[in-house]
Amino acid sequence: MSSFKYNSSELFCENVNLKEIAKDFGTPSYVYSKKAIEENAKAYVNSFDNPKNLACFAVKSLSNISILKIIKDLGCGFDIVSGGELHRVLSIGADPKKIIFSGVGKTEKEIEQGIQTNILSFNVESASELYTIERKAKDLNSSAPISIRINPDIDSGGHDYITTGRKGDKFGISSIQDIFELCRYSSTSQNLNLVGLACHIGSQILDLDGYIKSADKIFELSDQLSKEGIELDFLDLGGGLGVTYEDEVPPVPKELISSLEKKFSGRKERLILEPGRSISANTGVLLTKVEYIKDNFLIVDAAMNDLLRPALYKATHGVCNLDEKKESTKNWNIVGPVCESSDFLAKNVSIEAVEGDYIAINNAGAYGFVMASNYNSRPRACEVLINDDKSSLIRKRETFDDLLELERIND
Ligand SMILES: *Cc1c(COP(=O)(O)O)cnc(C)c1O
Repeated sequence: MSSFKYNSSELFCENVNLKEIAKDFGTPSYVYSKKAIEENAKAYVNSFDNPKNLACFAVKSLSNISILKIIKDLGCGFDIVSGGELHRVLSIGADPKKIIFSGVGKTEKEIEQGIQTNILSFNVESASELYTIERKAKDLNSSAPISIRINPDIDSGGHDYITTGRKGDKFGISSIQDIFELCRYSSTSQNLNLVGLACHIGSQILDLDGYIKSADKIFELSDQLSKEGIELDFLDLGGGLGVTYEDEVPPVPKELISSLEKKFSGRKERLILEPGRSISANTGVLLTKVEYIKDNFLIVDAAMNDLLRPALYKATHGVCNLDEKKESTKNWNIVGPVCESSDFLAKNVSIEAVEGDYIAINNAGAYGFVMASNYNSRPRACEVLINDDKSSLIRKRETFDDLLELERIND
């Protein structure tokens, strides 16, 4: 959280006092550092030795268009998982040839959208999806670029809800035989263009072993295909690099890229990565106000509808008072006003706080605002971007009228 630091005992984001943000924009609010976003994206882009290799930012982790534009301008592509995300990245002028479309349940409409946009590749996750893409491409008199997402059966560790590369997870195709059949089929189809192989083994990964093993598996497949005369443009090793929420020490992007490029040396395929969290997580905090104190509860004005990760995955986020105070010996549970016992933002945290104080929930940039909902008819928080000593509102706080906007009374 290098962009978020105390300055004379008050928490700043870059050169802006966060208490000013809380007062000017209200709470709860998401606040992001432009500098941190740039540093994190550059940590990928500038680490590639081979200029053809590509980092496609996983839009699902943080999708505000102001932020996507910053990331695009630094040279990243995008990994998308829905038509809505495709719409977002096109709205900021993303290069279609740097867009990868992932996800197990692409609809015909989304497939059509992707073909018409001329994206780099659909990462295909089942035989049925492959045939649907072929049919859609035929309807459109076109040839759709695809890669097969394999399930390499690698356990990357971490919470069950965020591993994606084990047999029995719903992602990718695990049978080697099926993978070959689909590749061979695609290579003879008029309406499919097999351009790569892909995998994504999980999230919050803390060592490089899984990536190395995945690369080995994917190389084996690609080599076999090459023997059969099928040459691929890229091998996509997914995202998933972890970040420091508490005391984890994940490898930095440079280490990941160096070891993979070393493995790729002498190969014809390009390397693609799909980082999400490792670019977005430490760029943002969620600001919230302590409304009430009761027993060991700090009851704040942010809730699970604003930041779902603690309720969804028992995720832990560091917290701090915007006024730097000495560590208190009291252990607090920080909870919101939503009527669910799972509505907590942090448990057993030791900070000093009184009613009316402002608190920052750290590392909330990834899978934070993007998972926000209107549960309990709570308008979603605003998003603010800090650039040096300036702040700009990049998403307005929703209003009560916004909540009713799409609803009609049936008469
Ligand atoms: C979620 C996801 C990512 C990004 O994962 P992070 O852990 O945020 O880096 C990349 N690729 C695919 C296919 C995903 O589903």
